[in-house]
Amino acid sequence: MSEDAGIVIVGAGQGGFQLAASLREMGFTGPVTLVGDEPGLPYQRPPLSKAYLKGEAGIEQLELRPAAFYADHAITRVEARAVGIDREERLLLLEGGASLPYAHLVLATGARNRPLPVPGRELGGVFYLRTRAEADALKAGLAGARHVVVVGAGFIGLEFAAVARALGHEVTVLEAAARPLARAVSPQMSAFFAEAHEAMGTKLRLGAGVVGLGGEGGRVTHVEATDGQAHPADLVLVGIGVTPNVELAAEAGLEVANGIVVDEELSTADPDISALGDAVAYPSVHAGAMARLESVQNAVDQARCIAARLTGKAVHYCAVPWFWSDQADLKLQIVGLSGPTDMAVLRGDPASRRFSVFRFHERRLTAIESVNRAADHMLGRRLLAGRPSLTPEEAADESFELKSLLAR
Ligand SMILES: Cc1cc2nc3c(=O)[nH]c(=O)nc-3n(C[C@H](O)[C@H](O)[C@H](O)COP(=O)(O)OP(=O)(O)OC[C@H]3O[C@@H](n4cnc5c(N)ncnc54)[C@H](O)[C@@H]3O)c2cc1C
Repeated sequence: MSEDAGIVIVGAGQGGFQLAASLREMGFTGPVTLVGDEPGLPYQRPPLSKAYLKGEAGIEQLELRPAAFYADHAITRVEARAVGIDREERLLLLEGGASLPYAHLVLATGARNRPLPVPGRELGGVFYLRTRAEADALKAGLAGARHVVVVGAGFIGLEFAAVARALGHEVTVLEAAARPLARAVSPQMSAFFAEAHEAMGTKLRLGAGVVGLGGEGGRVTHVEATDGQAHPADLVLVGIGVTPNVELAAEAGLEVANGIVVDEELSTADPDISALGDAVAYPSVHAGAMARLESVQNAVDQARCIAARLTGKAVHYCAVPWFWSDQADLKLQIVGLSGPTDMAVLRGDPASRRFSVFRFHERRLTAIESVNRAADHMLGRRLLAGRPSLTPEEAADESFELKSLLAR
């Protein structure tokens, strides 16, 4: 790619920031422009549902780099919403009528909250948690709240529930599925987290979908669920998943299927446009299918992969997926991708709050879910990067040294 032509990145979140930084690290000297529609410096989202919400981390801990970094690395930040792509003229169109020429465009637009599709959703006291602005509003709302209802027992819902309990609120979590974290972990791990949250004093209601929100004077007072109950609520946090931001790509005629479709090098069908992160569906060697992942690792590693290609070192994206979630004193780490029917093999005792669940598909290791057991997780990252020969019997046997596998 010509060095005097510019790279324009849409979305100044985790992946967009990383791409700009990696381009400079890898020696790109042409113009780099980072376009984002959120105010302020690029920041990381994970603390929003953890330390930042709890008041244990401030804004400086959220920001990925201080302002000077962008000036020092000649990264131009543009605070604006991109509203269109003119592929023929290679122009990114911004809200307000301005446009930016690009030699290469990268879509790092992330995802947005799925709104709760029930009557009463517009009531005061109903919150979401994706952005810093939403975290600030939620924090302020929590200050006066007693009965907190969380809709959705996914990662965001459960992390928030743990913080709200620690802050002394009464917390009820309503989940339509039969178990928490159902899309992400084994039934064994779900059962552990269900018990752990109950032990924290949270009421967890499974099989309880929300049918409506009731209120008085424009503010929420209760949540009606399919369990036939009206759960009292003066604050509701909705965490029912996200929708990828694919509209720019779709309107520009690029393929979209649960994400902006890219190839193994993370390029769209237009060689001048790449895409990464939460917004992207890519061919995953680990899933053996197209996958769209929502994790820091995925956004960061995909950014590095694109930066390498744009600086002349094209590689196929095949990083091992990993993820973490902090809920009270429990650190859950997941490495690999498992299917819903994968076998689950326990290593260690859940009662000790330090154990792992190894997942196997036809006796092939696919993923490891660990609680407070970082060594299993770190080893898993190395194992799953190759062809792990671990058997389910070895995984279950605590006397078997996992490290010995690295020498096989
Ligand atoms: C509360 C919370 C906690 C999380 N905790 C964890 C965790 O513990 N571990 C983990 O691995 N992951 C966690 N995640 C997920 C992780 O933060 C995301 O996977 C990651 O941020 C994805 O990076 P991204 O660059 O694809 O998208 P984002 O970081 O969401 O960035 C996308 C940016 O693009 C902007 N944008 C979108 N459209 C446009 C447009 N048209 N014009 C201009 N700008 C636009 C958006 O406003 C946004 O700023 C968490 C997420 C949240 C919300």
